Amino acid sequence: INLKQATADQSHLGELDDEAPDHFSPAEASLLSKIIRKGLVESKNDIEVQRKDPRSPLYSVKTFEALNLKPNLLKGVYEMGFNAPSKIQELALPALLAEPSQNLIAQAQSGTGKTAAFVLAMLSRVDATKPYPQAICLSPTYELAIQTGEAAAHMAKFCPEIELRYAVRGEQVSRGSQLTEHIIIGTPGKVLDWALKFKIFDIKKISVFVLDEADVMIDQQGHQDQCIRIHKQLSTSCQMMFFSATYSQEVMDFSEHIVKNPIIIKLKREEEILNNIGQYYVKCSSAEEKYNAITNIYGTLAIGQAIIFCHTRKAAAWLAAKMARDGHAVAVLSGELTVEQRINVLDRFRASQEKVLITTNVLSRGIDVEQVTIVVNYDLPVNLQGEADCETYLHRIGRTGRFGKKGIAINLIDSDNAMRICKDIEKHFSKKIHFLNAEDCEEIE
Ligand code: ADP
Repeated sequence: INLKQATADQSHLGELDDEAPDHFSPAEASLLSKIIRKGLVESKNDIEVQRKDPRSPLYSVKTFEALNLKPNLLKGVYEMGFNAPSKIQELALPALLAEPSQNLIAQAQSGTGKTAAFVLAMLSRVDATKPYPQAICLSPTYELAIQTGEAAAHMAKFCPEIELRYAVRGEQVSRGSQLTEHIIIGTPGKVLDWALKFKIFDIKKISVFVLDEADVMIDQQGHQDQCIRIHKQLSTSCQMMFFSATYSQEVMDFSEHIVKNPIIIKLKREEEILNNIGQYYVKCSSAEEKYNAITNIYGTLAIGQAIIFCHTRKAAAWLAAKMARDGHAVAVLSGELTVEQRINVLDRFRASQEKVLITTNVLSRGIDVEQVTIVVNYDLPVNLQGEADCETYLHRIGRTGRFGKKGIAINLIDSDNAMRICKDIEKHFSKKIHFLNAEDCEEIE
């Protein structure tokens, strides 16, 4: 497995408008979160389970031993530092490994162990003595496929007999050859080509089919068509596993339509995260005042690390340059960076080489840097209609206050409109956002 590929060809990036709201696609956001994540996102919330087929047994496991994994796979799991199954794994893994096999539709926020769950299921299900593909995992992008492959390679460290093959751009195959690897991890177009055009493996022999980031896959027309075409070729006994951080109603309906008798597992979102976060707003009448507010806050409170969210790349770049000129160690993460550059920025930030990370919405989802204690909304998050985007707000400020620690969120208010948005957010979550005098941040504690 060539892991270096993850940083290849980024030419499609960097063509965006500097002043436009900076947004990443869900697939890109998911990739970033995978890169920066150190460990599991622990969830205190309940799991909701729905069974279409009441005959299918349902049980949960509290240990990896209870799953009767191949010994070398269990060794791999422990080697990765996993002591016990995560919440989603508790229920998903027994269902995924049960005989006869069961179909699953699972939803849990990123970082909760979904990838590890389906990777483990694929590795458990394949018979390495049979030299042909038996499991397929489809990912929406090249980079996500590589991330999944890396997790699989890591977990299969003590199972050298299991072979993985990437079906992504740049991978060459010759017509007439036959794949001998057991697991294919790839993007839909390539897998489709290999299965139907080149016929280099027999899709009827696939016994495990994983759709990762199902919402992205099903939402994007091109991907959806390809997934359906692949799905149509699978044998009826093939086990289906759909995983996603979110499912819109349409995507869920569609999933239930194509996944027969699924067990549906949903891990509820952590709204109560707000309980751990002190929320404040600061009134500023100009960009300069916003800047001063930030330096005051930064000067007073730079205990841990801070993330500052701006609406546009231009604002992010301006702020970063100004702070850097004033001698602060800041890093910037915005959409024009290549994947390689983003990884670099995030690695440095995680290693505390910079105390402040200035970013755009790019970073709002699923990213946990444990030491982040302050999140500043230089601009409040708004949707395309200019209304309060409460979900993004929650994602942003949810970067702090993790793992039971106290976090602080500070919103810079530079107009009546911003004040109105701030009030809407306050109302939405029914959680007070306190007034803060930026000259006197001591109030915070
Ligand atoms: P998701 O696919 O839901 O985003 P991942 O499977 O990538 O989540 O897991 C998130 C992080 O937690 C990864 O770094 C992974 O190695 C780690 N992880 C997964 N399962 C466990 C576990 N049972 N115990 C400890 N860490 C885990």
